Amino acid sequence: MSIVKINNLYKKFGDNIAVDSINITINQGEVYGLLGPNGAGKSTIINIMSGLLKMNKGSIEILQKDLGKNSKFIKRNIGVVPQELAIYEELTAYENVKFFASLYGLKGSELKNKTFEALEFVGLKEKAKEYPKSFSGGMKRRLNIACAIAHTPKLIIMDEPTVGIDPQSRNHILKSVKKLNEKGSTIIYTTHYMEEVETICTRIGIIDHGKLIAEGTKEELKAIVTDKKNIKLVVDQIDNINIKELQNITGVLSVEFNEDIVNINSNKETNNLDKIILYFTNNKISIRNITSTEPNLETVFLTLTGRKLRD
Ligand code: ADP
Ligand code: MG
Repeated sequence: MSIVKINNLYKKFGDNIAVDSINITINQGEVYGLLGPNGAGKSTIINIMSGLLKMNKGSIEILQKDLGKNSKFIKRNIGVVPQELAIYEELTAYENVKFFASLYGLKGSELKNKTFEALEFVGLKEKAKEYPKSFSGGMKRRLNIACAIAHTPKLIIMDEPTVGIDPQSRNHILKSVKKLNEKGSTIIYTTHYMEEVETICTRIGIIDHGKLIAEGTKEELKAIVTDKKNIKLVVDQIDNINIKELQNITGVLSVEFNEDIVNINSNKETNNLDKIILYFTNNKISIRNITSTEPNLETVFLTLTGRKLRD
């Protein structure tokens, strides 16, 4: 059963096309990862889904109902964790969660119980009476999540919930996504960290410049680049490297530099490692390390766009 159906969604800000005719269907029980670099259009899609922004064209069905006609029903039955923290500094952790849960329609003892459950779920039960100003970034993020899940929504949408937090809170959040899914919620998870979607998502949509450029399980996405390999060289200096000459080596598809690292995308079958190494020795550039790796979602993105996921 489909929980979300996005049809030809289109949104522009002035002349800037933020979402360019996107189609996505998400089924019950999925953890759907929306992966893309900053500015790709992820938050715009989420903000349209949660009713904060109006679309220019297209339609969205959530929980089998049209968003335009049933926004009240939809708002009550989904939980949105926004990219920008939406918590009140002047309310305690408990009061924050209770406030949001009441907006979602909970009342009385159910409101109280579910508020505590949500705080316990994100590991903040002991902090229920404290104010967010004493919290670390990761704790605030977790409180932000508690606010969106207390009413046990069928669909939970999380917009980059792990940006800029400590590894411990990050792991906690990733684990809680899995647990929420096991408890029956369908999840949409946006991020620009490919490791996260690899670990927790059942299906992934890769988005760039407002377009969905690839979609599938991580195995399906990696199959796009199975005939490719990535050669990474750590060198002592990159100033004398001529990118054209490297690109002219048989089999080489693209070359990228980053500080002392040279990333070469190449056909898997072509035996060109000797020629690549020769290029560096001929130009008196010493190689400190060289590794050749199988594709991951980063290489998928690189192959499809010619750019890295993170700059
Ligand atoms: P992401 O969440 O993937 O980083 P966004 O959806 O925030 O990307 O942004 C997509 C594009 O739309 C970007 O070019 C961004 O600058 C632009 N954009 C987003 N929100 C607004 C807004 N409120 N007004 C104008 N431009 C916006
Ligand atoms: Mg965003």
